[in-house]
Formats: sequence, C-alpha cells, structure tokens
Amino acid sequence: MSAPRGIRFDRVVKAYQPGQQAVDDVSLAVEPGRFVVLLGPSGCGKTTLLKTVNRLVEPTSGSISIDGVDVSATEPVALRRGIGYVIQQVGLFPHMTVAQNVAVVPSLNGWPLQRQEARVHEMLELVHLPAHEFGARFPRELSGGQQQRVGLARALAADPNILLMDEPFGALDAIERTRLQGELIALQRQLRKTVLFVTHDVDEALRMADAIVVMRTGRVVQYGTPLEIIARPADAFVSELTGGHDLVRLLGLMRVADVPLAHDGEGPDPGAAIGLQADLRAALSAMLAAGTARLAVRGDDGAAAGTLTFETMIQAARAATGKAPP
Ligand code: ADP
Ligand code: MG
Repeated sequence: MSAPRGIRFDRVVKAYQPGQQAVDDVSLAVEPGRFVVLLGPSGCGKTTLLKTVNRLVEPTSGSISIDGVDVSATEPVALRRGIGYVIQQVGLFPHMTVAQNVAVVPSLNGWPLQRQEARVHEMLELVHLPAHEFGARFPRELSGGQQQRVGLARALAADPNILLMDEPFGALDAIERTRLQGELIALQRQLRKTVLFVTHDVDEALRMADAIVVMRTGRVVQYGTPLEIIARPADAFVSELTGGHDLVRLLGLMRVADVPLAHDGEGPDPGAAIGLQADLRAALSAMLAAGTARLAVRGDDGAAAGTLTFETMIQAARAATGKAPP
C-alpha cells in the first residue's frame, strides 16, 4: 500500500472574476493520513479549494503542494491518477459495467488484465458489493447508495495516496448516508489515506473528521479537532454554524475516560453500567434510560473502574468549553 501524503495550501486565492474571490488567501497544512473535512455554508469556496488539489481549478495566486512538490509542476492527467476523486453525482460511466468502471484507472495505468481483475474483486469486496453479484451490472441497475460505493471503489482502485471527496453522500437518504459514513470510517481505519472531504452537514463533519476546516466567504475561520470546534468556537459564526455550545453534541465528542470517576463506594443502580470508551452522549442516554445520575464504569478489561456521575460529566463538558463550573 502506498504511503499517505501531506497537502499544503500556501496563500491560495481563486477569483473566477476579478475582485470576487471564491477562495481568499487560504494557508493550511493537511497531515499525511488524516481525514480533514472542509465545512461551511453553500458558496463559501469548499469545492473550489478542493479542486485546486487535482488542478480542476488553477489558483489565481498562491500554491498547493503535495509532499513538498508543487502540483503545478505535474501534468494534470498524471497528477489525477494519484488522487482519488469522489463527487455527489458519482460520474459512473453509464455504458460500462460496475467492474469496468472500477477498472478504469488501473487500465489507464497500464496494469496487466489479471492484476486489474484481482483489484476489481478486492475493491468491490471492500465496499460490500461482491463482484460475482454486482460486477456485471450497469450503474442504472444499482441504488444511489450502491452507485456511490462503486464511485468509492473506482476512486480507490489505483491505490491513490490522496482521496478528495465532495459531498459524496449528499444525494443519499438519511439511512444510506449514515451507513456509508460508518463504512467510510471503517475503511479509513484500514487504508489510512489522506482525505479531504467537503460537506455542509455539521453532524457529518463531527462524525467523520480528525480535523475540521471551517470556511466562510472563501476564508478559513477555524481549523481544529471536532471537540475544539464545538467546545471553543473561534467566533460567533462558527458557534452558530455548529449549534454553538450544544451540550449534547459536545458530550458526543467526549468519552467516559475523559471524566474523573468517583470511587466513593456508593454503588450505582445495578444494570446501569457503561464502558470507558463510550461517549458521554451514550452515558447521558443510559442515565436517562435507567433513571439514575450514576453509572458504574467498566474498564477495557471489563473490571469495575469507578462511578460516572451526572455532575462530574457536565463539569468536564463545561471545562472543555473553557468555562468555569457555575
Ligand atoms: P461551495 O462548494 O462551498 O458551495 P464553491 O467553491 O462551489 O462553494 O463556490 C464558491 C464561489 O465561487 C461561489 O460564489 C460560486 O458562485 C463561485 N463559483 C464557483 N465555481 C465557479 C465558476 N466555475 N465560475 C464562476 N464562479 C464560480
Ligand atoms: Mg460545493
């Protein structure tokens, strides 16, 4: 498997018309192997910024480099063969079968037929569309979610170091979207690509991202982990966009292990227990379901690790926002 690569944006400006900057002086480093989400309202420049990486858009000024090599030094077609690209409208070739669609880039790269076939099988397996069942179908014979999976398989087929994804799940219904998000998270754990993922959906961003770039009118207003973005929004815009200081969202980003546990021996309700790795949103629901403000916590080895109380949980969440307890 190829090593992931870092991406660097250096003072990137794109003005489609003079004086109208769709991307306005963006400098940003994306570490190799990270899943970075570009988040912001429609028209803020996410797609434009994304497309400067594979040169579908040329910047008006500034530069983009991959592992220190300026993308403008590489011929666009060659550059794009090393960069997977997945968009909302999938862009599968309608007259080609699923297997042929997935094999497109390997065949352009001149792989021998046998290696192409093996790769198609592997990729379709990876996105849960077994080749013996789906390989010979045409895109129109698939659901939207299945088409999106084929798009992902195609983008990954030549083992690119970088994956660019532009609202890939935007056209799917809520159930399919959640399922594909989960699958992509699992895939990313396995493949460790450098991923730039565009969305305007805050919950999707919080769920998927190692780090989030919040954009507004072509500029980066904040770059941080999901917890930082929710707990310490840089300004009123970020706060409003992310539902600012939404306690339940914040709890969803913290784990039981982040909270000091009580060891006072006062046993909580039997049956009301939770693991150290669970998030605090799950802890809150467990408390609500059991009608208790105290949960027994089990360590990773299953042994008792202490007691989580409602009060310490809320204190920890408030501490994350930088606010002193009341
Ligand atoms: P987003 O993906 O965040 O919705 P875009 O990058 O698509 O934003 O667009 C940013 C701005 O640039 C918008 O004002 C949009 O109208 C404008 N824009 C995008 N593409 C073009 C283009 N090809 N020609 C002219 N203006 C464009
Ligand atoms: Mg867009």
